[in-house]
Amino acid sequence: MKCDVLVVGASPAGLMAAISAAKGGAGVILLDRDLAGLDHAANTLFEGMAATSGIKVEDCYLKKELEGMRILSPSGQGVSIPAKGYFIDRKKFDEHYLRLAQSSGVSLLAGVAKKSRLDGSRRTVFLNEDEIEARVVVDASGVISHLAREAGLLPMRHAEDIAWAMEADVEHPDLGEEMFFQYWIGSMAPGWKATFSPAGGDRATLGVFVRGHGQNVQPFFRDFLKRFKAFKATQYRDIENLKIHAVRRGGDPICVLPGEMSANSLMVTGGAAGQSGLAYSMRAGTICGSVAAEAVARGDVSREGLSQYEKLWRREFYWQYRMGRASLQTLAMMKDEEIDRLVAGLSGKRLISGGSFVKKAGYAAAIVLLSRPKTVFDLATNLMRG
Ligand SMILES: Cc1cc2nc3c(=O)[nH]c(=O)nc-3n(C[C@H](O)[C@H](O)[C@H](O)COP(=O)(O)OP(=O)(O)OC[C@H]3O[C@@H](n4cnc5c(N)ncnc54)[C@H](O)[C@@H]3O)c2cc1C
Repeated sequence: MKCDVLVVGASPAGLMAAISAAKGGAGVILLDRDLAGLDHAANTLFEGMAATSGIKVEDCYLKKELEGMRILSPSGQGVSIPAKGYFIDRKKFDEHYLRLAQSSGVSLLAGVAKKSRLDGSRRTVFLNEDEIEARVVVDASGVISHLAREAGLLPMRHAEDIAWAMEADVEHPDLGEEMFFQYWIGSMAPGWKATFSPAGGDRATLGVFVRGHGQNVQPFFRDFLKRFKAFKATQYRDIENLKIHAVRRGGDPICVLPGEMSANSLMVTGGAAGQSGLAYSMRAGTICGSVAAEAVARGDVSREGLSQYEKLWRREFYWQYRMGRASLQTLAMMKDEEIDRLVAGLSGKRLISGGSFVKKAGYAAAIVLLSRPKTVFDLATNLMRG
């Protein structure tokens, strides 16, 4: 098989890369190992992020509109941020973008990319039995990606900071009727960060995001579940009987920094490039796909010819990612009392003062964030990006 652009991975970034490359006039194949039964984690996004990324949330996959997000400190204090949010039906979302890809002329192919080889100004990707020769290969195969690394790229910096995560669909009468997405930080969220996203009716998802403890996050989930039930016990009768349905696992590069994004005939986007979050990675995929199509049309698919992608991405997002990492690293270093004070300060109950709070150099990042008017939304966005 031959094509102009081969996208490996129907991730949000991969779908958008395929669509935008096809719209740019390239002949595109989108390859995914699980094309028939995509079952991805991640289901919540907020208007601000979607708008920044140029994404319009469509009714066909919207499950529930949210009124905002709430950050909860270990003592249970919360800061609420009014912001329009969306719980999406992830299967319908993936199906929608797959249909859009097909109607843009993208060919869908089920299969697993094993490795790639550069042949002059083309790259061949080897599947189990087939091989595909492309002018440009886009690696959009998520944090577990190996194509880019095998080609000598270092697509993310601080890969050791990937948060390994588990998300469970849960059911309890009226639990999904809450209107705020909720995050816990500090000891309430064993392993690092925990989330609750109401899906409407009796359904919601619970997630734990764990850093520095390997990929088996099940014990952290069990621990959080106990705390979650205790936290909600006054609000819901019999919360002990909460049912757990499907469970999904994955890695979230929320704290890493994107690194090198292109090599000869190769680009890397989405989680594979450390670009976390649904909306942000979709925007990155869009930029990636349009640069790929232009490079093919120009006949220059060299690293230099494809480097416009990295330049454009950096112009839009680099500082947001840098600030995001700095603030999340700061949060990770904070003790429960400090988080309580931060949340109380953000909710306007008490101003954050210096003293012991400004103990470590990393805290400077939090101060920078706190001095900006959009502080609370920025902090929440950084927690949310992944
Ligand atoms: C548990 C969890 C919950 C999250 N919740 C949210 C959320 O609510 N909101 C938000 O904005 N972000 C969330 N994130 C982050 C978000 O999922 C990712 O940042 C974003 O979806 C980007 O996905 P990805 O690029 O990592 O690719 P993935 O979603 O991992 O997709 C990669 C695709 O590539 C395919 N693939 C992999 N290897 C190969 C191969 N060799 N050959 C062919 N195909 C291959 C896979 O089948 C898969 O379809 C969450 C992450 C996790 C882990």
